[in-house]
Amino acid sequence: MRRITNRPIGDAPSDDAPEPLDILWIDVHQHTQSLTWNDRESFDLSGGQAAVMIAAGYYWAPYRPVSADDVRFLWDDALRRAACFDHRHFYDQYVAVGVHTWAGVEGSEELLAVLPDYCEDDRVVAIGETGIESTHHTSRWGLDDQRTVVGEQFHIARETGLPVLVHTPGSSKGGLPAQYSHSYEEANESFTEPLLDPETAKTDAVEIDLELVDEAGLRDERVVIDHASPEIVPLVLETTDCYLSFSVSAPWLRGFDPADVAEVIEEYGADRIMLDTDLIGAMQHDAFAMKRTIMDLCRLGVDREEIRTIVYENPRRVLGLGD
Ligand SMILES: [Zn+2]
Repeated sequence: MRRITNRPIGDAPSDDAPEPLDILWIDVHQHTQSLTWNDRESFDLSGGQAAVMIAAGYYWAPYRPVSADDVRFLWDDALRRAACFDHRHFYDQYVAVGVHTWAGVEGSEELLAVLPDYCEDDRVVAIGETGIESTHHTSRWGLDDQRTVVGEQFHIARETGLPVLVHTPGSSKGGLPAQYSHSYEEANESFTEPLLDPETAKTDAVEIDLELVDEAGLRDERVVIDHASPEIVPLVLETTDCYLSFSVSAPWLRGFDPADVAEVIEEYGADRIMLDTDLIGAMQHDAFAMKRTIMDLCRLGVDREEIRTIVYENPRRVLGLGD
């Protein structure tokens, strides 16, 4: 090739340039009510088709223990806001309703009694997030009580046919790299002492969750084990038929990066893997996280059909969304 530059500029990279990116996505887990208009506009700008808002975000419930009324307020508030978001943005806003275990809740049986009615709302496409947690915000919730409230929600999932988004531990409370130790607005001092060994809490909690899934007679295909990290990959993908979802908006918090996701897809295929963002306004976050992760996976050489499967087809199937 004839070179006409004035002085040498180096050889051009020889790799083929990637094709334009046209992968759409659905986010099965985000705390949309804590974000801004600009964040929601970012979803429209980056290929978002639908997003599930977790209704029970206890960050906005002022008192501990959280009361049943506080949670009911959050559910109602999420449903009201979802209609407003839909009114002004182009992606579809859905809601997941459930009793989260992030802080102790008093009177949770009142919530479980009305949860099936909420599941009939057209916007409600999942139950959750809920699942066994090891540490709690300000107000501890013992393992036996958590088993009851989580197990009952799995029963309701079976009865209503909705999928369940299973929160797993390891999303807060110290141990962060120094550059991120101030990136989360919740103070570590507010969290209770762990109920499970911190070294194995995530795996231990998932094992309990899976027992509860079996006890409830809930089909694995209706279960999304969320906030995945490499340590629980074999447990979920080799011993169950559940979905496994990686929460990508704060990789510094979750202990994985896109290369880990690429490896999991390479080893297990894409059929039971998902990405969600778990975007929340209480910590440093990136509203373009889903699109950036899609681009990272492309650059890592993951097949585009497999990427489409994990960010669009699998969420659509699990949530029961049409075309
Ligand atoms: Zn969670």
